[in-house]
Amino acid sequence: MEKGKQIYEGKAKILYETDSPDYLIQYFKDDATAFNAKKRGTIQDKGIFNNKISTKIFEYLEAEGIPTHYEKTLNDREMLVKRVEIVPIEVIIRNVAAGSLCRLLKLEEGLKLSEPILDFCYKKDELDDPLVSEYHVRALGWATDEEIQEIKKYTFKVNELMTKFFLAVNLDLIDFKLEFGRFKGKIILADEMSPDTCRLWEVGTGKKMDKDRFRRDMGNVEEAYQEVLSRVSK
Ligand code: UDP
Repeated sequence: MEKGKQIYEGKAKILYETDSPDYLIQYFKDDATAFNAKKRGTIQDKGIFNNKISTKIFEYLEAEGIPTHYEKTLNDREMLVKRVEIVPIEVIIRNVAAGSLCRLLKLEEGLKLSEPILDFCYKKDELDDPLVSEYHVRALGWATDEEIQEIKKYTFKVNELMTKFFLAVNLDLIDFKLEFGRFKGKIILADEMSPDTCRLWEVGTGKKMDKDRFRRDMGNVEEAYQEVLSRVSK
């Protein structure tokens, strides 16, 4: 498939057209941002790690019956994906309290939740991706009720599958963010799943193996991404 013109550049990825209207090339950059791009930096080879980690995860989820935009991995930094119309919602699911949930409710980081919490955030940088409810999503026409039910069903299933997947390599899945899109009338999982979009803590030690190392200047950021790749490749 031929690479065409760039159609979008986000904080961590670039999308290119292909010679098919149904497919795009998703390129993973090394750029890292946090706190809605108020903090910027580079994580050496992050694009390569995240492309490979996302590949492993999409292949696993597809095999487990979750429809995704993933088609195939083209090279170190690029994957071929279905061209979707993105639902403008970030779907966050949490198993353990961390990040914005702790700030919002003054909870101690690491508090185990008695059941997963699913949050919807409106994808709008100018507004800092505000927390919204499914009523907002329906009332403002961002997704239909049927689509919301599909998104919730897939998100809980992905949480179950990914919790098991990471536990098998001694990582606790604390929380993560998903994005969904419409492809030929159906809701499918899009974007990426990587240490940029998941919190992963090493079982036993609690060592952070994700973007919080960059957010909080903890050091050994590249090493953590590389270690996650090496574990998920087992
Ligand atoms: N997340 C993300 N993109 C965003 C916001 C959050 O990938 O724009 C991920 C984040 O890495 C974490 C989870 O979603 O794994 C929950 O993030 P949280 O709401 O705690 O926000 P944070 O404090 O990380 O900004």
